[in-house]
Amino acid sequence: MTQSRIMMGTVVDMRVYGKSAEKAMEQAYAKIQEIENRMSVNLEGSEISQINKAAGLNPVKVSTETIAVLQKAIEFAQLTNGAFDPTIGPLVSAWGISTDHPRVPTVIEIDYLTDLINWQDVEIKAEENQVSLARPGMAIDLGAIAKGYAADEAVAVLRANGVESAFVNLGGNVYVIGAKPDNSPWRIGIRDPFAQEANSFVGVISATDTSVVTSGTYERYFVKNGVTYHHILDPKTGYPAESDLASVTIISPESIVADAVSTSTFLIGKEAGKALIESLPNVEAVLVDKDRNVWVSSGIRNQFEIAEGFALDETR
Ligand code: FAD
Ligand code: MG
Repeated sequence: MTQSRIMMGTVVDMRVYGKSAEKAMEQAYAKIQEIENRMSVNLEGSEISQINKAAGLNPVKVSTETIAVLQKAIEFAQLTNGAFDPTIGPLVSAWGISTDHPRVPTVIEIDYLTDLINWQDVEIKAEENQVSLARPGMAIDLGAIAKGYAADEAVAVLRANGVESAFVNLGGNVYVIGAKPDNSPWRIGIRDPFAQEANSFVGVISATDTSVVTSGTYERYFVKNGVTYHHILDPKTGYPAESDLASVTIISPESIVADAVSTSTFLIGKEAGKALIESLPNVEAVLVDKDRNVWVSSGIRNQFEIAEGFALDETR
């Protein structure tokens, strides 16, 4: 059974096999909707919007799952020395890159806004399920991690319904359950970040029971006066992050980790990203750098087939 729905500003595709497919899929979509209602920065009444509205004023009581996702995001802020920062919200809204009115903020705005970004000014009182932001104008944006969380939760619902083979794709955040019905592994294409068309690939990963998440700058961007501005922002400069990477694909059975590591690696660059990836358990990667070199981490070398026109980077 397959379905596609627009959720979280992207297309959420599900292909589910087995006799409970229909019921399982309904419940999985309902779970994703529940997470969007809680964690979307675009929904007035969401828990994240309530926290942002109360910035500098008072703590807000939120669900345990929002606390858990925020704590995970702060873990990656620590691991990347603040390059990944869930308080990126003011900059994301100033640039408006996923909206119909993207713009280049003025230098004065950038100066003021970068000052508002600091994950260390998020106060979490987990025992009381409370979150507060120290200063007015601060804002949380979980765009780099909550889709991965939603994928994990949707897969947990499918598995709880006895599903043993499924393909779930939340706007490029893929999770495969088991193998395909014919028992062959799922084959997941990694998009060529240099090509306009979506159906050209860097290579294909054969995988079962894991998540494959790609961060790149080829979908959410705008061009002004010949300059391309993408959606992964550097909290220090306030501008789209400069990276020696063109795209990052992370493979992990924990999609929340894959989502956060994909964005983090893009932000900290190839060498530091490789070290981060090697330091984390059950995390593998395919990194495509600006010179079209493809680095594949040791644990998935024999599951990856590279496409023509790309060179394998054999360094460790
Ligand atoms: P990733 O690389 O995973 O993340 C990039 C996103 O992370 C940016 O879009 C920004 O949100 C954030 N970010 C940027 N720089 C940093 C940084 N330095 N540190 C941490 N985070 C950073 N999109 C819509 O267009 N409309 C919607 O209504 C909408 N609702 C959403 C609701 C939820 C709950 C979630 C999780 C996402 C929603 N999105 C929506 C999509 C959101 O914009 C995506 O996260 C975005 O498309 C990027 O996802 P990605 O995996 O491609 O990029
Ligand atoms: Mg991501």
